[in-house]
Amino acid sequence: MANFNEKFLDLKESYLFSEVAKRVSAFQQSNPEKSVIRLGIGDVTLPLGKTVVQALHSAADEMGVAESFRGYGPEQGYDFLREAIQSHYSTFGVKLDTDEIFVSDGAKSDTGNITDLFSKDNTVMIPDPVYPVYVDTNTMNDRNIVYINGTAENDFLPMPDRSVHADIIYICSPNNPTGACYNRAQLREWVDYALENDAVILFDSAYECFISDSGLPHSIYETEGAERCAVEFCSLSKTAGFTGTRCGYTVVPKAITSKSSDGREMSLNKMWNRRQCTKFNGVPYIVQRAAAAVFSEDGMKEAKAMIAHYMENAKIIADTMNDLGIRYTGGINSPYIWFECPFGMDSWQFFDFLLEKAGVVGTPGAGFGMNGNNWFRLTAFNNKENTVEAMNRFRSILKK
Ligand SMILES: *Cc1c(COP(=O)(O)O)cnc(C)c1O
Repeated sequence: MANFNEKFLDLKESYLFSEVAKRVSAFQQSNPEKSVIRLGIGDVTLPLGKTVVQALHSAADEMGVAESFRGYGPEQGYDFLREAIQSHYSTFGVKLDTDEIFVSDGAKSDTGNITDLFSKDNTVMIPDPVYPVYVDTNTMNDRNIVYINGTAENDFLPMPDRSVHADIIYICSPNNPTGACYNRAQLREWVDYALENDAVILFDSAYECFISDSGLPHSIYETEGAERCAVEFCSLSKTAGFTGTRCGYTVVPKAITSKSSDGREMSLNKMWNRRQCTKFNGVPYIVQRAAAAVFSEDGMKEAKAMIAHYMENAKIIADTMNDLGIRYTGGINSPYIWFECPFGMDSWQFFDFLLEKAGVVGTPGAGFGMNGNNWFRLTAFNNKENTVEAMNRFRSILKK
């Protein structure tokens, strides 16, 4: 029997969502008459847009006819989709070549798989709290991780500490779970830090389409110099309801080079291309047609309407926090509201309190890192009626 990778023993049990489910089902069993509202949902709830569904149907029809049937496609994605993504980037003033864009089955795989390109000796800088994928994939790969703290004092937007060196830096903006979003000056500082340290920034922009503040950057490439140090991951999961349909894209600029320990240079774009061609056979043609439809005029309108629906819910939650004087981030450029647990409770105590007194389910901040111990995440992915009702209950248990 082969020996296993012992680094798997170092992974923390992903006990967050199973523990939440366990406590909710115990509550429902002992309180069958109470209705439970879930604001812990980390998945979209609205169906795919009409334009997207039409594209799925017609691509399926093409696949059933010999003349238009497609087998293996290009590992990097079809040109029609890479061109659609390229024009989406041009709406933020970012110019990319299509061969810098790689279509994939989502941002989770790519943010994990990109670790294939880097030496195990690299030091990885990861914010806390954050999306758990970055920590787990680097733990599996046996890399040294240094954490940077997101706290109320820095509005959950940690900035570079020049006394610490990192080779790989993960940034998620707008952030899951905090909803906080870096501005231009802050990204300028991160890009400068990366260039000074010969580091690469792995920039997760899965929530780019939720940015409503016109001054905030949608892409790290809006910062000059980022094309020499940053890889950007994006996804249609939250933008257009593709969590079950699966399509994302990763930008690896041709200007980024990485060095071996003896100083030889490699192009990261060529390495990622090689990695994908070796281990990945592309996204289904049907799904790529659906993804391209998202970037059409009608498709974008439908995606924006879905996002507007979620953001109306986010505003209902944020308004409640404002009225009750609770400290929070997010809710404006992100579907997440991250707030300080009232009454000095820790996040699991507050979880139980909210469930038992109000029948509302959220996500304890402790599940996203040590700095989340006294914070709590609510999401905008339920419907309006339930969100309003949940916030009415929230107000009634928080008032004296
Ligand atoms: C939802 C989410 C993604 C998207 O992942 P997919 O694999 O594309 O569905 C990526 N990053 C973060 C931080 C997310 O919350």
